Amino acid sequence: MDAEQLRENAHKMVDFIADYYKNIETFPVLSQVEPGYLHKLLPDSAPTHPESLQDVLDDVQAKILPGVTHWQSPDFFAYYPSNSSIAGFLGEMLSAGINMVGFSWITSPAATELEMIVLDWLAGILKLPDEFLSTGHGGGVIQGTASEAVLVVLLAARDKVLRKVGKDSLGKLVVYSSDQTHSALQKACQIVGIHPENCRVLKSDTHCDYALSSESVNEAISSDIEAGLIPMFLCATVGTTSSTAVDPLLSLGKITKRYGIWLHVDAAYAGSACICPEYRHYIDGVEEADSFNMNAHKWLLTNFDCSALWVKDRSALIQALSTNPEFLKNKSPVGAVKMSPPDDVLLRKFVDIAAIYSYLRSLFQASQGNMVVDYKDWQIPLGRRFRSLKLWMVLRLYGLDNLQSYIRNHIALAKHFEELIAQDPRFEVVTPCKFSLVCFRLLPPHKDDNSAYKINHDLLDAVNSTGKIFISHTVLSGKYILRFAVGAPLTEERHIVSAWKVLQDVASALLSSL
Ligand SMILES: *Cc1c(COP(=O)(O)O)cnc(C)c1O
Repeated sequence: MDAEQLRENAHKMVDFIADYYKNIETFPVLSQVEPGYLHKLLPDSAPTHPESLQDVLDDVQAKILPGVTHWQSPDFFAYYPSNSSIAGFLGEMLSAGINMVGFSWITSPAATELEMIVLDWLAGILKLPDEFLSTGHGGGVIQGTASEAVLVVLLAARDKVLRKVGKDSLGKLVVYSSDQTHSALQKACQIVGIHPENCRVLKSDTHCDYALSSESVNEAISSDIEAGLIPMFLCATVGTTSSTAVDPLLSLGKITKRYGIWLHVDAAYAGSACICPEYRHYIDGVEEADSFNMNAHKWLLTNFDCSALWVKDRSALIQALSTNPEFLKNKSPVGAVKMSPPDDVLLRKFVDIAAIYSYLRSLFQASQGNMVVDYKDWQIPLGRRFRSLKLWMVLRLYGLDNLQSYIRNHIALAKHFEELIAQDPRFEVVTPCKFSLVCFRLLPPHKDDNSAYKINHDLLDAVNSTGKIFISHTVLSGKYILRFAVGAPLTEERHIVSAWKVLQDVASALLSSL
């Protein structure tokens, strides 16, 4: 790691990336390669001798980029966005540069402390209740993804209940969600050992834009208690992945409080919108939640990955996830961790060695005495990156005002797209646009369900294979629905207008071929 070599090469890399962004609109948004394409282009084994950076970059240009789907393209409207920004990129770069592994406080105090501070800041911006702050019994932690977030809180909730009712009751624990809850919960239930029959996937309310109904939760809980089961966990979603449905947190919170059920709020995508006062009401009721999660890497300009999770009872998380292997113990005496005494003569002259020893000992004892946060006990892996740097840089280099305008702009663009659809009688808007996702479909000439399914499926394929835009789909009440999610940082009004033109043209061609 020669500093001058790093400087030279990193400058080249930054130039390459800047050019990538400059030309991003020239690529097909959705990669058009066939499976296995890369095998034909790359050698069968790694090189024996070093190659030049230029050769590698040439390969990236010619062989890798064709196999990339350009999530940062302004014409990317699929799934949910996965934002990048200059601040996020710089933070990521700095994190890669420092490259420390901050599993315990002592392994890089700044990494732990900055993460606590930045998540307290973000909690303040989202107006989360004080119990989620690190100053009380709760706190925030950056997970890789929303899936990891729900897994760790499910573990915490499970063990908290099992400590009360006994380990043998694992088979009785029940988890509640809706049929719109992200599949991450199902995976978490499998891992955590919830009996498949005890995963209550309640039918969402089609008259209420596919939100979970608190009546159905109430009924399910009552009948489970009657059957001798133990209601344990409810996952509510603010902004479901299919259609941005918002589960009624206020009424759900009353239920979970009454029965002592852990309430987790998954706001992976829509949580970002709640930094604006006018959208904050979507998480009203979060006050009763035990945990709350949003992905800053989706729609808050923080490069992947940065999933912010807050809990009210951090000890529940730590009790479920902590281990204390001998090789990580920060115990005194200092000799045990092989610290050699400082031998600098000057230093000895001015500082009493005993004082240094006692200072070091206090540092190494910090974790043992629970004086500090050791984030290894809040997550699945041991190792962890310095991810708070990029969120910190995003918050500092943009400021709340700009972040709010950023969100508002995307929501306005989505509303504009919704209006364009509403003006064309060949299409229908399926669920009203709350955030920056528009769910719509093409109406078939003979309004039967089968042809509606097929024509929208065909429309999606045809539109995406133009390479001009990329959209995705979902199925709601058996209907095949197209999803148009605004949220790429480079998207402007002109991209919305031309995306709509592409959709109209392809739809016209499809309709006339019938
Ligand atoms: C995107 C999303 C997830 C999954 O996010 P990951 O971070 O990729 O695990 C979970 N829940 C909701 C509501 C989402 O929108």
